[in-house]
Amino acid sequence: MTHAALTRLQGGLAALQADHRERRRRVLDGTQGAHVTIDGQRVVSFCSNDYLGLAADPALVQAAHAALDECGVGAGAAHLITGHHRFHEDFEAAFARFVGKPAALLFSTGYMANLGVVTALLGRHGEVFGDKLNHASLVDAAQLSGATFTRYRHNDLAQLEGQLAASKAQDKLIVADLVFSMDGDTVPVDALLDLAERYDAWLYLDDAHGFGVLNDGRGGLTERARASDRVVYLATLGKAAGVAGAAVAAHQDVIDWLIQKARSYMYTTASPPLLAASLLESLRQIAAGEARRAHLRSLVVQLREGLAGLKYGALMSSGTPIQPLLIGNNAAAVRLSQSLLQRGLLVPAIRTPTVPAGTARLRITLSAAHSADDVARLVTALHAGG
Ligand SMILES: *Cc1c(COP(=O)(O)O)cnc(C)c1O
Repeated sequence: MTHAALTRLQGGLAALQADHRERRRRVLDGTQGAHVTIDGQRVVSFCSNDYLGLAADPALVQAAHAALDECGVGAGAAHLITGHHRFHEDFEAAFARFVGKPAALLFSTGYMANLGVVTALLGRHGEVFGDKLNHASLVDAAQLSGATFTRYRHNDLAQLEGQLAASKAQDKLIVADLVFSMDGDTVPVDALLDLAERYDAWLYLDDAHGFGVLNDGRGGLTERARASDRVVYLATLGKAAGVAGAAVAAHQDVIDWLIQKARSYMYTTASPPLLAASLLESLRQIAAGEARRAHLRSLVVQLREGLAGLKYGALMSSGTPIQPLLIGNNAAAVRLSQSLLQRGLLVPAIRTPTVPAGTARLRITLSAAHSADDVARLVTALHAGG
């Protein structure tokens, strides 16, 4: 008997392949970093989110080793049962202090944190207002909440204000990436907070790409936003922090509510305590990481100056380590990425549907682990057309 559902799925796969939209995974050997071995080839990687070069840092590795010896591998249960280890507890307190919020909660991933926070803060009768360029996990979270989901054009606060003014919902949540992951630009935090105050909404900011990098590493919040009870802050910890997980920081009562209501927190096994131990060391490195950040900023300047006169593409307007080179056409972006790889430079081509049609780009990300020489090689190769 034929299995019609499987046949349809195979047709779907074939269609993706025919359309050059099939994703494939490269296999990494050894450690993450600026220089990696991927599919057996030694390359300079311009695509990780390990912005400070902490993913393989000896101090973080050492902290994980010590915790491994002390408490084993698995957490064994959810946080609300017996999985909440001293290391999780200590990390939450240290994180809240560092970002200037009263309390924090550690989730296993940023994706799960976003699902948990949005669904816990809003029910079906609420309304979510989200930037059109928000990360997929925030889109999924809004849909899962069952609330009315209204999207506004990227950073278009006039449109957002019109939507807020027209809303009949009692519970409102404005949600945005603080640094946009495919564009590298940021939100105007205080202007969003003004709107949240005027229309009595929560403001949830996902700082996956700003934490560890912006404002002495404390992330993209302004002082006003740190002090505001209506601002809920998310940092993911697999990017600049170099480990895994995500921390939500907010008013103590918001955190208490999430512990009661965030299903992606309650109904999952706690992450291994050795990760939280490593994260505690990561926080120390981030706090003392001004030299890494200064080096990273100098690489951003070097890249932008180096590519200023490029003929076939231009860097988008970004001051963060995410430096997308806008190419436009899917096929041209893919060709460029492939020819860079032949020169040992790994820069991914980002195409539809991840970004809008006609805005295919090379997403260059820089890390404090890069040298000026690495960046010079990339600039030279790009001027040579890949
Ligand atoms: C990476 C990312 C996430 C997801 O975080 P994970 O810890 O990788 O699950 C969420 N939001 C944004 C903006 C991200 O870039």
